[in-house]
Amino acid sequence: MQLPVASTQVVLAYTRVLIRQHRRALARMLSVYALAAIMALIPAWVIGEITNFASKHELTSFKITIYVGTLVVSSLAYAVLTYFARRRSYVLGETVFAQLREEFLESVLALPLVEVERAGTGDLLSRTTNDMESLSRTVRFAMPEWLVAILQAILTLVAMLLVSPLASVASLVSLPFLYFSTRYYLRYATPGYRRERISYATMSGSVAETAEGARTIDAHQLGVRQSERIEDNVRESFYSEMYTLLLRMVWFPTVEGAFAIAIAVTLAWSGWLAINGHVSIGAATTVTLYVVQINDPLDRIVSWLDELQIGQTSLARLVGVSVVKDDRPLKGPEPTNETITMDNVHYAYREGHDVLNGVTLTVRPGERLAIVGPSGAGKSTIGRLLAGIDAPRIGSVRVGEVELAQMPLANLRRHVALVTQEHHIFIGTVRDNLALANPNASESDIVGALAAVDALEWVQHLPEGLATELGTTGYPITPGQAQQLALARLVLSDPHTLVLDEATAMLDPRAARHLERSLSAVLSGRTVIAIAHRLHTAHDADRVCVVIDGVVAELGTHDELVALHGEYAGLWSSWRNERPTAS
Ligand code: ATP
Repeated sequence: MQLPVASTQVVLAYTRVLIRQHRRALARMLSVYALAAIMALIPAWVIGEITNFASKHELTSFKITIYVGTLVVSSLAYAVLTYFARRRSYVLGETVFAQLREEFLESVLALPLVEVERAGTGDLLSRTTNDMESLSRTVRFAMPEWLVAILQAILTLVAMLLVSPLASVASLVSLPFLYFSTRYYLRYATPGYRRERISYATMSGSVAETAEGARTIDAHQLGVRQSERIEDNVRESFYSEMYTLLLRMVWFPTVEGAFAIAIAVTLAWSGWLAINGHVSIGAATTVTLYVVQINDPLDRIVSWLDELQIGQTSLARLVGVSVVKDDRPLKGPEPTNETITMDNVHYAYREGHDVLNGVTLTVRPGERLAIVGPSGAGKSTIGRLLAGIDAPRIGSVRVGEVELAQMPLANLRRHVALVTQEHHIFIGTVRDNLALANPNASESDIVGALAAVDALEWVQHLPEGLATELGTTGYPITPGQAQQLALARLVLSDPHTLVLDEATAMLDPRAARHLERSLSAVLSGRTVIAIAHRLHTAHDADRVCVVIDGVVAELGTHDELVALHGEYAGLWSSWRNERPTAS
C-alpha cells in the first residue's frame, strides 16, 4: 500500500497559496524580464525600418549610425536586464524550493508511524529522492522559464500587432495545431507520468527491501524470485517510460511543424501584402522576423510543459504526504499517575487474525517487568501497544487512566518510550546523535547517559570522542555499540516508563547483563518493561510475565514462577541447561 497522492485540486490550491506568498518577488522578477523582452524586440523593428529606407533609397550614413547605435544599446540593455532577471529568478526558485522541502520534511516527520510501516520505505524514499529532485528542476528552472516564455510570447505578439495586424494574422495558422496537439498530449501525459513515478517508487522499494533483507533472501534461496520481481519492476518502469516517450515523439514534431508552417505562411502572406502595397516592406520584414522570434518562447512554453507535468506529478506525491492525518489529538488530559494498565486487550494486524487474545496486565510505577514467551506469542505486539504505537482493537491500554492512543505524541513520549532491536545512527557526531533525544542535555548529562549504558569508555576512545562523526559516511561502529547509543538516547529523553524490546540483543550475554545492571542503577524509580529472550533479564526483574498465544499465561516473581513448575519453570530450566554459566 502506498501513501496517498494529492488530487489536482489540492495541488492547484497549494500552488495558488505558494504564488500568493511570493507574489511580490514574482512580480519584480517578471517586470525585469518584461523590460529585457522589450529590448529583444527592438532589433527586428530596426531591421524593418532599415529595409523601408533602403527600398526607398533613403538610407543615409546618419540614419545607419542611429540604427546601429540603437541596436548596440538595446543589445547591451538586454544582456544586463537578463542578468538581473535571471538572478532574481534563481533566488526566487531557491527560496520557494527551500520552503517546499521544509514543508515536506515536516509532513514526513508528522506521519503516523503505523502509516510509514504500512506504506513501506520504498515509497517514502522515492518521494524524498526522485520526486524532490524533479520538483527542484520544476521550481528552479521550468516554472520561471515557462512564465518568462509566456511573457515574451505575449509581448512579441503585441509588437507584431502594433507593427501590422494585417500581416500578423497569418501567424495564427499554427494555433490550431498547437492547441489540439497539446490538449491531446496533456490528456494522456498526466496519468502517464503518474504511472512512471509509481513504477520508480515500487522499484526502489524492491531494491531497498532486497538489500536490507539480503541475508534472509540468501538463507531461503529467494534470490531468483527477488531478481524476477525486480526485473518485473524494471519492465514496468521501461514500459511506462516508453509510453510517455511515445507521446512526446508525436507531440514534439507536431509543435515544430506548426512553427515552420507559421513562418512560411507569414512570409508568403506579408510578402504578398507588401508587393500589392497593403503594408510597407519594412513592416512585412519586421512581422516575419517576429514570427521567427516568437517561435523560441513558444517552443520553450511547450517543451517546459513536459517538465511541468512531471513537476506537478511529483508535487502531488509530496503534498500527498501532508494529506495523511494523524488521528491523535493535539491536546489531551495529563495522566495523574504512572501506573500502566492493559485491560482485556485484543489486537490484530490482519482482520480476523487476533494475535493478542485478551491481555490484562498492570505494571506498577518503578517496577521492572520482564515479558518472556515463545517466538510469535505476541510479546513485541504488547510492547508496541504499551508504547502507544498501535491502539488495541478491543480493550484499553492506559497510563494513569488516560488511553495511550488518545494522548498527543509529545505528551506520550514524555511518559512512555520504546527501544527495539531496530535502531538508527544519524549522520552527525556522537553528541548530535544523543542530543536528538533532549536538545537541552548538558555535556555531563550526555556523559552520564553514556556511562549508564556502558558506552563511555569506547566513546572516549573514538578518534574525536563525543565529536566523532558517525552515520553512513562517518566512523563505523558495531551494531552493539549502536544499540548502546539508542539506549543512551532513551536515558536522556527520560520517560517514566521504558519498554525495551530485545534492546540488548546485539551485545554478547555477559555485556548485555552488565549493561542492564548499570542501566537499572540509573533508571531507579523508572518503570522498565523488558521483552527478553535471555532469561537472566527475567531473573533480575521484579516480576515476570509469560505470554503464550496472545494471553498472559503466568505472572509472578522469578522464584514464584520457578516454584510453580509451569511454563516459565520449563523455559528457565532449558535456558539454564543451554547456558550452564547463567546464575
Ligand atoms: P518474537 O519473540 O519472535 O519477536 P513475539 O512474541 O514478539 O515474537 P510478535 O512479534 O508480537 O511476537 O508477533 C505476534 C504474531 O503477530 C506473530 O504471529 C507474528 O507473525 C504476527 N505479526 C507480527 N508483526 C506483524 C505485522 N506487522 N503484520 C502481520 N502480522 C504480524
